[in-house]
Amino acid sequence: MLDEAKRILADLIAFPTVSVDSNLEMVAYIAAYLEDVGARVEIWHDPTGAKANLFATLGPEVDGGLVLSGHCDVVPVADQDWASDPFDMVERDGRLYGRGTCDMKGFLAASLAMAPRFAATPRSRPIHFAFTYDEETGCVGAGHLAQSLARHDLRPAMAIVGEPTMMQVIDGHKGCFEYTTRFRGLEGHGSAPDLGVNAVEYAVRYTAKLLELREALKARAPQDGPFDPPWTTLNIGALNGGKVHNVIPPKAQLDWEMRPVQPSDAVFVKEQIADFVAQELVPEMQRVFPDVGIETEVIGEVAGLEPVRQNATKDLLMRLTGANSSGLVPFGTEAGIFQQLGMDVVVCGPGSIEQAHKANEFLDIDQLSRCLDLLQQVNDAFAVS
Ligand SMILES: [Zn+2]
Repeated sequence: MLDEAKRILADLIAFPTVSVDSNLEMVAYIAAYLEDVGARVEIWHDPTGAKANLFATLGPEVDGGLVLSGHCDVVPVADQDWASDPFDMVERDGRLYGRGTCDMKGFLAASLAMAPRFAATPRSRPIHFAFTYDEETGCVGAGHLAQSLARHDLRPAMAIVGEPTMMQVIDGHKGCFEYTTRFRGLEGHGSAPDLGVNAVEYAVRYTAKLLELREALKARAPQDGPFDPPWTTLNIGALNGGKVHNVIPPKAQLDWEMRPVQPSDAVFVKEQIADFVAQELVPEMQRVFPDVGIETEVIGEVAGLEPVRQNATKDLLMRLTGANSSGLVPFGTEAGIFQQLGMDVVVCGPGSIEQAHKANEFLDIDQLSRCLDLLQQVNDAFAVS
């Protein structure tokens, strides 16, 4: 079983499914594999047709199934110093190296390797595979998957999202809200700053306001909040604009995100920054030139996974792993989206988030093997004799 999982993982790593690129070849590979073992496979394309979500079902066509979920995309490798080709999986010292080994094709490979066993086991409830596109760019694919599932005949009841947790059972994380704000000013000569609208300067002032709000968020942290840190965080990810010393830059772009511990924090930040833009920045810009502006595009607003008392998936996985507590993680996943569809959801997958997104990303083979064991136990737990 482990060899099969490794073989599939090597195949998956060889598809360079960086978020900006198509995942269709990998989806076709997975679809063919799952159809071979008898799954009913549905492929749902994104509006551009260049990417797709895959949803597959093994077992009876009834409600109450278990979803094994993961994303197909990986983060870019550009500007990273890799010791080997990131899209050619290499085994070394008990580890599998390659882009996506831990985040999170390892879980996909383990689920697929188990599929023939799932298929061969008589069961009263189905096992579903839900593999998405564009997780790394704001869980866009999972958002579309949620819309497709809301219209679907079948209502799965449980979900395991296999992001790397070192196989720990995780039942909560913050939300992840990502934005791109674009500043449109007026070009001019550097020697006459009053005749232009400097987009970079407005972007800097907007950024400073966000940093001020970031401090305010700390004071809003709920008492006894379970998260670490217990408040909503805000990050300035990229700030771009301008070309040379002596030109007033007409354009700037800011990529930023926040990770709400409570929905009201996101509302707070959005209202405060919108007021600042409408009452201070834009009127000042328009005093020089009318056709200027600041627009914010929502890249993704991914709900958090809220720890809840009643969680059948958590209870099952804790029983199977012998864990006596579940945990929280500081990163976002697609789990909140499944929770909003009414499922009991945990995050549990092989590998460590420490290795994710970095050069020489790897997955410990032991982790892959533990994941296979757990999936086998899950399968046994649903078997009917
Ligand atoms: Zn991931």
